[in-house]
Amino acid sequence: MKSTVVYLDYNATAPLRPEALNAMLPVLQSVGNAASQHVLGQHSAELVADARLEVADLLGCSPGELVFTSGATEANNMALRGLMQGRTHLITTAVEHPAIIGTARALCKELDARLTVLSVTHDGQLEMREVQRALSEGSPALVSVMAANNETGLLFDLVQIVDEAHRADALVHTDATQLVGRLPVDLAELDVDAMSLSAHKFGGPQGVGALFVRRARGLAPSPLLHGGGQEHGWRSGTLNVAGIVGAGAAAAAAAAQLEAEARRISVLRDELERVILDQVPDARVNGCTEPRLPGVSSITFPGAPADAVMSRMPAIAVSDGSACASGSPVPSHVLLAMGRTDDEAESTIRYSLGYATTEEDIQAAVGETAVAVRVVRELLGYRVGAAT
Ligand code: PMP
Repeated sequence: MKSTVVYLDYNATAPLRPEALNAMLPVLQSVGNAASQHVLGQHSAELVADARLEVADLLGCSPGELVFTSGATEANNMALRGLMQGRTHLITTAVEHPAIIGTARALCKELDARLTVLSVTHDGQLEMREVQRALSEGSPALVSVMAANNETGLLFDLVQIVDEAHRADALVHTDATQLVGRLPVDLAELDVDAMSLSAHKFGGPQGVGALFVRRARGLAPSPLLHGGGQEHGWRSGTLNVAGIVGAGAAAAAAAAQLEAEARRISVLRDELERVILDQVPDARVNGCTEPRLPGVSSITFPGAPADAVMSRMPAIAVSDGSACASGSPVPSHVLLAMGRTDDEAESTIRYSLGYATTEEDIQAAVGETAVAVRVVRELLGYRVGAAT
């Protein structure tokens, strides 16, 4: 059955790539615990090894540096807990995903460690002198900075941050959940110590992620789960063979078309922004437009609360902030950190495009948005030009 809903919520989750589905189906129809000695178990173990290689190829790391997890939330928890061992200061940013912010708060409380939360500019960027100042205020430190923001798509300058941090003997973890599979990543070049990712953001199944930990630096993840000692003892529990196979197939499919896909998607995103800004008075894009993920646009429509707009365009699947936080009444902490008011944050829609987005999807989304915003503004008595 073909869905009639235009799906522009790839940052919440991407549709399963056909390559991933095709790779997973035979695994789901067969049996074999990857830890079993018999031939069926060994076959599962080989499938996991192949998938690990495919994910490692996408990242430019060695397969032995990856631990499969249930997703980026688990990878983030494992990374912060492991890398904070022997450290007294955790530095992160105000625009991280709750999987970092919540973990950082809980961990610093538990370890009685110092927590610095860096603010961002109106454009969503970090100021390097703030990073330097934080690094000078307590060591040894761990810096955890996201690679790409889930709400705005903004990219932080990881190269410079890593440089500053390493000069101050700090370790660096990056939550690259939104970057991996969308733009090239090369861990041979980008010298982070640890990186988290999640397969469902690049067309793999939900419930599978990975943590990269740089071996050359003698670092090790900290097990959150104890048990059978799978994944070198770092992540006990029977491996999700079909899920891992799907993650590997999605990684290979993303890698094969990464640059062409990014170019095509950014053209569509730019078109969406151009038409919306042209047709909807007072609409504004949040954050600097570059460097940004190719498929993301966060747009504020003053005078038009996002929930009211979205309820008037049920055939367009978009987000009013981060999906993980939706359902909660608080305005987006990312937009507030960028200096937006509660009203502005609540009148913001995130469009996130991906590998299967088409020109027709964009036309439908801009058309429906323009009408829905106009109707909501009329109902609420918004005067165009009233927003400053
Ligand atoms: N970090 C970021 C930046 C994310 O966007 C998400 C998913 N919204 C996560 C972490 C959590 O990922 P998962 O759902 O795989 O636990």
